[in-house]
This record gives sequence, structure tokens and C-alpha cells, in this order.
Amino acid sequence: MTTGAPVSLPGACGGRLSWSQVQDLIPHTRYGCARKWAFQKVARLPFVASPAMAEGSAFDDGVSAALAPRLVREAAPSAPLDMIGGLEAITARLRREAREHRDWAADWPEAAYAHLSDALGLYARELAAVDVALTQVKLEAIVDGVPILGYADRVDRMEDGSLRLVDLKHSGSPKWKGDGADVVWEADWVADVQAQLALYAACFQALQPDAWPLPIAARVEVVVSSRARKMPLVRALDLSLTDEHLGWVRARLRDAAATAWGGVYAPRPGVACTFCSYRPVCADVLAMTTEPFERSWQEFVQTGGLNGARR
Ligand code: SF4
Repeated sequence: MTTGAPVSLPGACGGRLSWSQVQDLIPHTRYGCARKWAFQKVARLPFVASPAMAEGSAFDDGVSAALAPRLVREAAPSAPLDMIGGLEAITARLRREAREHRDWAADWPEAAYAHLSDALGLYARELAAVDVALTQVKLEAIVDGVPILGYADRVDRMEDGSLRLVDLKHSGSPKWKGDGADVVWEADWVADVQAQLALYAACFQALQPDAWPLPIAARVEVVVSSRARKMPLVRALDLSLTDEHLGWVRARLRDAAATAWGGVYAPRPGVACTFCSYRPVCADVLAMTTEPFERSWQEFVQTGGLNGARR
């Protein structure tokens, strides 16, 4: 889906901002860090993928393939899922990732397949009666003048004819505590997911204003599985996106674009560092907090800093 002519953003953005870029460029999200964004987009240091990320992608591929029969125009909402296709898609992605990452454990593809196939089996039960309208929707929209590129995992048709926006998260650990009526979700995590869904909702509104009246029904479905867990878990959280949520994310989008343009990318040491590819080099350049990043980075490289980063 595309709308409008893109406006100019710094070359480092590739002309458009994704949710993960917005997340890095604003200080409101748990894992965001503008310095991390600058290492990847301005300094163009390679991003180091992890087995957990690859497993999440493999699961997404499996779900999309399994849901394919539901996307046939005349299919009933309860058309059987293509579980064989889903498992084949998981296998294909794991093999591809293993070829690219030969330093990962030799038995990683088999171990990952074992828990992901169990997880897909459990998740399929959750999907039994879901009326799927779209999966993996590529969103190219301009929201408040900022070009966005995003991928919405799924759009469901509800009984009353309205649409529901769904995001699927594969995780190695639950994002909630407790069970049954006593479940308490991690507030920071929910806030991040809600902001991501609000951004996609704003894109859908820009593309199809009549189809997405407020409030917009949204849902995050969390599938928990890992090599270390005996049994996968699945839990869903329903959300309602209001004008307030969309207004908040639009304001953050403008902040993110201004930061991208600004050229000064402050580090944000904290929980984000745990999963950051750039920790080895970051400690050397943490002092660059107020100067334009590009110039400081070039000086750092010219004095041999990049060799340190590559060690
Ligand atoms: S190590 Fe931490 S402060 Fe440095 S770029 Fe990564 S997330 Fe940001």
C-alpha cells in the first residue's frame, strides 16, 4: 500500500522511517537509543543479528504460510491452516539463517525447529476462528509529513464488519506475570507495542481513512518459546487505539524526524545496551554527546578508532 509523494529525509534514513528507527530516535521507548541508530545508519556499522531474532523471523514466516489458505477470496474464516506449508517456511528460514551465521551453534537449526514447530501447533489453535483479511501488509504512508515504511502482521475482520490490527510477537520469555484473571502485563513493554500499533494505525488511516474510524481495535499476540522452555505459551492482549494514542505517536514521529535531521545522536545507556550490536565501539565514543555525530565519527575513525571497533 502506498500513498502520496515522499518528502525528503536525511539519506541515513533511506528516505523513510520504520518503527524500529522511530523507537531508536525518541527517548520514550524502552530499547531506543539514538546513538545506536547513528552507528547503524550514519556510521553504517553492520548490525549483528541474534539467534533469537532469527527465530522470531522464522516463526513469522511459518504463521504467514500457515494462514495463506484463509486469504483466498472465497475462503471461510475457519478454512484449515496450511500447517505443512508453515513448517516448511520455518525450516527454510532457519536453514538460510544458519548458512549466513556459521558461528552460531551447529545444532541451532534443529533445536530452534523443535520449539518453533511446537509453538506453531499451539498458536494454530488460537487462530482457529480468526477471520483474516490481510497478513504482512507493507505500509508506505506519509504521516504528518514524515514518510513511513512498516509491516503490519495481520488485519482481522470482526463480526460487525470493522477491522482489527494485530501484531504478533515471538519471545523467549513471557511479557506478563500471573495467570487467569490475575495476569499483569509488563507496562513498559505494552506501552512500546501500543505505540507501534498506533503508528501502523496512523498509516492505515492515511491510506484508507474511511476503513479505520476511531477507536481502532488492536491486539498483540505473544507466543513464547525457546530451547530452554518445555512448553510454549500463547497469550493475547486487546487494546483500543484512540485519538490520544495516535496523536502521541504522531508527535513522536515528528520528534524522531527532527532528531534524524539534527545530527546529534545522544547515547542512552541502559537496558537497550544489553541487546546492542555496538557495545564494543560505543564505550570509546560515549563522550560525543553534543557534537554533530558524523564529524566526530570521522575523527574517531581517522585516529584509528574503527580498528578498535573491528577487533
Ligand atoms: S551500547 Fe547502549 S548507549 Fe551505546 S549505542 Fe548501544 S544502546 Fe546506545
